[in-house]
Amino acid sequence: MQVGILALQGCVTQHVDHFTKLGCSSLLVRKSDDLWKCDALVLPGGESSTMLHLLQRANLFSEVVEFCSSRPVWGICAGAILLAKKVSHPEQDSLEVMDIHAERNAYGSQLDSFKAEITGQIFNTPLPADFIRAPKLKALSDQVMCLAQYEGDGVLFRQGHLLASSFHTELTDDSRLHAYFLEFLRS
Ligand code: GLN
Repeated sequence: MQVGILALQGCVTQHVDHFTKLGCSSLLVRKSDDLWKCDALVLPGGESSTMLHLLQRANLFSEVVEFCSSRPVWGICAGAILLAKKVSHPEQDSLEVMDIHAERNAYGSQLDSFKAEITGQIFNTPLPADFIRAPKLKALSDQVMCLAQYEGDGVLFRQGHLLASSFHTELTDDSRLHAYFLEFLRS
């Protein structure tokens, strides 16, 4: 089993460390050949508008859409914005594969970044999380399950084999969300 991490921009290497710790190998994905060697894919946090541009430049946009139709994909912050069917504040193109609405930068600017503990049905104890220019995510259909909340807002959503989180956990030592994502490969 090998998990790909889209490595065009953003927070990449920390994911490798978490997957290694969990006994799973990972591959940095920069082109089509890399992508199809992977059983699952992480779209990391970063800047979604830049990643969108780089995905198009690397001719990866439609391939990632296709990948999302059959294999597990986890979008984190900017990556969740890329997965969303609807993006606002401002409006932006996306892969449009997941029934969520992403309102960009809804938790404020870089200076407003904060650490929090989030609660959810899939964790026994709160999960440490970093919110960095994070979007607010909302489900657009009943195909989408909300798995965790912060102050009443949904922050972690699942639709089949697609996972979207508005926050980062790869900057912490806690690998529980990475482990949860790996379970998608076994189901
Ligand atoms: N605000 C960024 C965007 O709109 C996302 C920030 C992040 O990934 N931490 O793309």
